[in-house]
Amino acid sequence: MSEQSRARMDERSKEAFASAKEVIPGGVNSPVRAFRSVGLTPVYMERGEGYRVYDIDGNSYIDYVGSWGPLIMGHAHPEVVEAIKKTAEKGTSFGAPTELETTMAKLVAERVPSIDLVRMVNSGTEATMSALRLARGYTKRSMILKFEGSYHGHADSLLIKAGSGVATLGLPDSPGVPESVASHTLTVPYNDIESVKLAFEKFGEQIACVIVEPVAGNMGVVPPLPGFLQGLREITEQYGSLLIFDEVMTGFRVHLNCAQGLYGITPDLTCLGKVIGGGLPVGAYGGKREIMEMMAPTGPIYQAGTLSGNPLAMAAGYTTLSLLKQETYEYLERMAVRLQRGLQSNAEKHGVAMTINRVGSMVCPFFTDKHVINYETAKTADLERFKAYFAAMLNGGISIPPSQFEGMFVSAVHDEAAIDATIAAHDEALRRL
Ligand code: PLP
Repeated sequence: MSEQSRARMDERSKEAFASAKEVIPGGVNSPVRAFRSVGLTPVYMERGEGYRVYDIDGNSYIDYVGSWGPLIMGHAHPEVVEAIKKTAEKGTSFGAPTELETTMAKLVAERVPSIDLVRMVNSGTEATMSALRLARGYTKRSMILKFEGSYHGHADSLLIKAGSGVATLGLPDSPGVPESVASHTLTVPYNDIESVKLAFEKFGEQIACVIVEPVAGNMGVVPPLPGFLQGLREITEQYGSLLIFDEVMTGFRVHLNCAQGLYGITPDLTCLGKVIGGGLPVGAYGGKREIMEMMAPTGPIYQAGTLSGNPLAMAAGYTTLSLLKQETYEYLERMAVRLQRGLQSNAEKHGVAMTINRVGSMVCPFFTDKHVINYETAKTADLERFKAYFAAMLNGGISIPPSQFEGMFVSAVHDEAAIDATIAAHDEALRRL
């Protein structure tokens, strides 16, 4: 039986979207929310509880967006909500240090192998932007190397077109990014250590850092091939560049000690976001003491924030991190494997070409029969099929990210019944394709 017991209504969402477009560019505060790639009207949410979200038309969905990753403990987790309430009663921001910032930093430093010192900011974008400035300031070099199809937030240096071929010099992905800025960014294919070597042979003495998602999560979900992260570690060490793990998505998502704990590779700097804010706006960057002390006020490299380390954000983040235990990740693995197997068996049953990539609770069904290891292979997915599939899932009461190039997030409150209902809706969606 489908999860949604009656036809999905969307009149109020349509009205809300029309009204929003009068005053907000494209009606949204972040482009992907506009549902353009799936050609639908965005669903306006009213509330969330556990693994469910409820829209303003009265429909409910089993949710795998999880606010694009942060909600690993589900929506409105009672302990997180209580921590925010209690903190808010004492004031929402001081612009002076609070003890909770130290408590939070200690927990992050204890859990993340590469982090001795950590600085809180307000988003993943701020974290990666600040880490880049630090890497450039510390190494006194300008170039950076990133991977095709990787998203690291919207800072100018990182919003660079993924070019083809080896060590393509960056072209801006967006008007407004000066070519002179983009020209400092090299892009090579993900999982292609030979291209990284070639780039370093050519530009090695100028490269400040390599920034990598240790599991790529913005071209769908793409795990690192064996030896890839280790190769990056060795090459950056050889050339005196810094290795930055952008763990905004993977941090506390794939392992209690983040992807660096899962794969046993320690970068020089780590960027965090999403889960560490527990649903409130938080980012962070951290690393070795010697490097982090280059930041103001101990060092000359500047970075600041009126609301950085905000008490409500720290309360939500700290409570969320405290709820995460080793057993949580074992549970997430079990649920995500159950989901992956169910989706795979549906695809086989219906003869639909589908490759399902998964690392921990990040799951991505690609509409392709190719082994997806980088952006090129991710792009072999059939996007028209994805569109139809997305609509069918939504109508079946399942909320997944409105893009083939984003993963589904299983939370610690999804149970077997939720997973099985999702598999049933997926079965029905594939039947209709
Ligand atoms: N880095 C990665 C790996 C991300 O997935 C994202 C956002 O999706 C960011 C950075 C940017 O984070 P934010 O949207 O909080 O600015």
